[in-house]
Amino acid sequence: MRVFFIGFGQAGGKIVDMFLEQDKRMQTQSFRGIAVNTARTDLMGLKNIDLKDRLLIGQTVVKGHGVGTDNVTGARVAADEIDSIINAIDSRGTHDVDAFVIVAGLGGGTGSGGSPVLARHLKRIYREPVYAIGILPAPEEGRLYSYNAARSLSTLVNEADNTFIFDNSAWKNEGESVKDAYNRLNDEIVRRFGVLFRAGEVGRAGVGEMVVDSSEIINTLRGGGISSVGYAISERISPRTKQSQGLLSGLIRKKEKTEEVLTGEDKSAKIIALVRRAMLGRLTLPCDYSTAERALVLLAGPPEEMDRKGVEKSKSWVEENIAGVEVRGGDYPVQSDYVAAVVVLATIGNAPRITELLEIAKATKEDVLKSKEKRSSMFDDGIEPLFE
Ligand code: GDP
Repeated sequence: MRVFFIGFGQAGGKIVDMFLEQDKRMQTQSFRGIAVNTARTDLMGLKNIDLKDRLLIGQTVVKGHGVGTDNVTGARVAADEIDSIINAIDSRGTHDVDAFVIVAGLGGGTGSGGSPVLARHLKRIYREPVYAIGILPAPEEGRLYSYNAARSLSTLVNEADNTFIFDNSAWKNEGESVKDAYNRLNDEIVRRFGVLFRAGEVGRAGVGEMVVDSSEIINTLRGGGISSVGYAISERISPRTKQSQGLLSGLIRKKEKTEEVLTGEDKSAKIIALVRRAMLGRLTLPCDYSTAERALVLLAGPPEEMDRKGVEKSKSWVEENIAGVEVRGGDYPVQSDYVAAVVVLATIGNAPRITELLEIAKATKEDVLKSKEKRSSMFDDGIEPLFE
């Protein structure tokens, strides 16, 4: 899939920068991207996004210093300067993209406020789907972050075609601060979504046995709402398995023939186990997977490790475990020492973390209103001001 990433705000910019780095490293050219921010220093810290693709907005309002945690200003600035954002996207080239993906931390100001605005305009202008990867703040960041995230997400789900959630609090280690965890968390995000969004692209390792094209990803995400992604990788594949594909293959062909039946079964079993681990392990948003409407199962790895039966059986297993019956899937070969499995659980019906976030936001809003009332009544004692 050819993806156009827009990194909005600090978190979004950094993560898109890493997607582009991964694309360079893998020599795939599936990804392109720009970064949009109200803070000049955040844009300067990026490495892989071209300088001309880093857009500073809101200069007349915040003079390049960022909007802080004020996402209402973030949204306003994005709306005021939507033309220059769209121009920056257009000049990077959009004619061959399959989807847009907006990436942002939802608890802050710029990305939190700007992402839903951008999603609305992208949808209005382009025919391609617009997805978002929204990062939830950890509760320890304070109630304002949760409030911002709840407001942003409630708006975003109605604007984007589907919103993938990554929950910072589910991924940081006990005792570790969120800030210390950023690099590791970003790595986890880019690894998972990299496998997903690269599906359907023909790489150097050829095409898969069961090709997944971008329309299958798009159909999986068609239901909208929020989605979560599971991921697992196999143990390192031993060099012996790989050798059998190389020069030695002629010499050991005979022995291999007798082992083939067993290896086939073995390969299927390995793939099923991997997919189970991906879905039952830690998801980008911990949630009740049995409430997912649709799912996508993807395997990426060396061609000799791929197995059609394994993919089929994994799909059936996923189908038995989710609410809906639509499970798509397939594989694609990559030159790697590992096999990776990705399971997209699309349009989730129940995620306790989201319910919690909305509750915190509601309580915060009530407290803010109460303290506003208190403040305004303090000087209501009949003393006349000097002038009106
Ligand atoms: P913005 O620049 O105003 O959009 O705000 P930030 O992106 O700085 O922060 C918004 C949210 O994203 C906060 O909850 C941060 O904890 C989180 N965040 C910031 N940087 C990163 C990052 O590099 N990785 C992750 N996973 N989260 C981040």
